[in-house]
Formats: sequence, structure tokens, C-alpha cells
Amino acid sequence: MADLRELYQEVILDHNRRPHNFRALEDANRKAEGYNPLCGDRLSVFLRLDGDVLTEVTFLGSGCAISKASASLMTDAVKGKSVEDAKRLFDAFHRMVTADTAGEPDVSTLGKLAVLSGVREFPARVKCASLAWHTLKAALAADPEPVSTE
Ligand code: ZN
Repeated sequence: MADLRELYQEVILDHNRRPHNFRALEDANRKAEGYNPLCGDRLSVFLRLDGDVLTEVTFLGSGCAISKASASLMTDAVKGKSVEDAKRLFDAFHRMVTADTAGEPDVSTLGKLAVLSGVREFPARVKCASLAWHTLKAALAADPEPVSTE
């Protein structure tokens, strides 16, 4: 388990250093802002929604390594997915980071997102990890209010 944790740590640090899809999206038709006052993480999530498919997902912002890595992993995970599948992933992710029991993450559903399963041991970090997902949800709902984790 220690090896797995180290691997997870590596993936998170790597996504923080070189976040994927880290740019504004010129032809976005959905956008939302998220803020986690507890840590100071700020994110903008940009979506290109074509019919029911998230053809393009990008983000910008600044925050801690967990929030940035989570946003990077989130954009990779939902790009090309249907809105329904993206919401299912949101639910699976949310269950993983808030689960009371220390069960193994559902890797077949979560894929690389499982690297963030360790945050559930650090309640303050759960908000960092969840921020990108809440912001994504707001963008899908076309919610004009900025998202706050508080
Ligand atoms: Zn944070």
C-alpha cells in the first residue's frame, strides 16, 4: 500500500507541475468559477458542449497542488463524455473522497481519478479535490453564481 501511495503522490505532483488542458477555451459555451475559501483555491472551468457531449473541457486558476491536479485529472476524465457520464463520474468521485469507510476506490469506474482517494483522510483537502468537480457541475447547470465550497 505504501508503494501505491507513493505512486499516487507522483501522479498528483506531475499533474500539478504540468496540468493538462490548462488554458482558456476560445469557443466555450459554458463557463463557471469556483472558489475554496478554506485554502484559497480559485478555478475557472470552460466547456464546449455539443448536444449532449463535452467535446472540450479546460480550466485556469491558481491553488494548491491537490486542487490543480484534481482539475487536470477531471478535464481528462470528462472530455469526450456525455453529460450523463460526466455526472456519474462526479458521483463516483464524490463518494470516493467522502467515504467514511476506507474501502478501495472503484478503479474500474474512476480510472486515474483514484489517485486522489487519499484525500479522504484529510477533510480540509476534500474541498480542494472537489472544487473542480463542483465547478464543472455549475458549468453544466449554466449556474451564473460562482461556486464556493463553503
Ligand atoms: Zn487547496
